Order: sequence, then C-alpha cells, then structure tokens
Amino acid sequence: MLPKVTNDNTLPMNRHFTHLLNLPGVIVESWKSSQDSIFFQLSVLAEGTYCPYCRNYSKELHQIRPIVVRDLPVDGKNVYLSLPRRQFYCRVCQCYMTERLQFIDWRRKYTQRYEENIYAQISHVNIEQISQQQHLGVEQVKNIFNYISQKRKKQYLEISKKRFRLENQRKQ
Ligand SMILES: [Zn+2]
Repeated sequence: MLPKVTNDNTLPMNRHFTHLLNLPGVIVESWKSSQDSIFFQLSVLAEGTYCPYCRNYSKELHQIRPIVVRDLPVDGKNVYLSLPRRQFYCRVCQCYMTERLQFIDWRRKYTQRYEENIYAQISHVNIEQISQQQHLGVEQVKNIFNYISQKRKKQYLEISKKRFRLENQRKQ
C-alpha cells in the first residue's frame, strides 16, 4: 500500500482537490476549469517503482511522458487528469519498466472508477445517451463496456477456479 497523502507544500485549493479526487499516491499540482470541463495536473508521490521481474525498487528515472485520462465528473463537469507516465531503469535486469498506477488499468485512457461507472449506466441508459452526456464517442462507450465485461468475466473465472480448488482440498 502507498502512504497516505500528506504534502503540505501545496496550495490549499490544490489540497482540497487532492482530497476531493481521492486517488491513491497522487496529488493535484494545478487545475484549470472551462465551461464544461476541469483539467487537473497531477504528480505521483512515489520516488520510484518496483521492477515487475525481480522486485528491485528503482528510483532511476529514464523518461516521462504525459498522458491524459478521463475521470468521474465533478460538479457536472467532465474531468480530465494529466499524469506523468514514468519509465524507470532496473539495474538488476538491465531493463526499462513503466510505472503502473493502481487506479488506471494497463494502457487504458480512463480511471477504473470512470469505466465502472459507465459500465453501470449501460444497464439503464442506452449507449447513444451516454455518448452525448459524457462527450464520448459511441465507439469509446462500446470499448469501455466490452473492456469491463471481459474484466468481470476474468475475475469471475478466477473466483470460480479458487472455489473449485478449495472444495477439492476439503474433499482430500
Ligand atoms: Zn529488475
């Protein structure tokens, strides 16, 4: 688990938004608002990341690329998060690894909670309505729906497998 956010050098309004967003391991550095959207610039608190291959903790930053992901609306406005996608170097494996943020799935352009929210809406609102309300393309809404359906199926299969293993252990 990442440590709780306790950065007191930030402006009170940024601190307020950090608290409001309630995303682990990141803080709001700045924000700007237009008529229908809010754009938050976030930074990651962790200095480094664990190598997925050897579990070595590396702080050797190789490169940073900015990415923008969609998050849940605030005050009826579309929310966009600008985040650094950071790549670190692992000396042990001599490889580069991209940091994973726990609230965004790998290579997705939305936060997990945003995708879950869209998925939940599809059962009672049609895709075209969601597309209009969220200013998302119909294909993007379909993509989120398919992605979350697949994810749910995978999770369900994993739980079933675990349950099956447990039952077999009990029988032995
Ligand atoms: Zn490594």
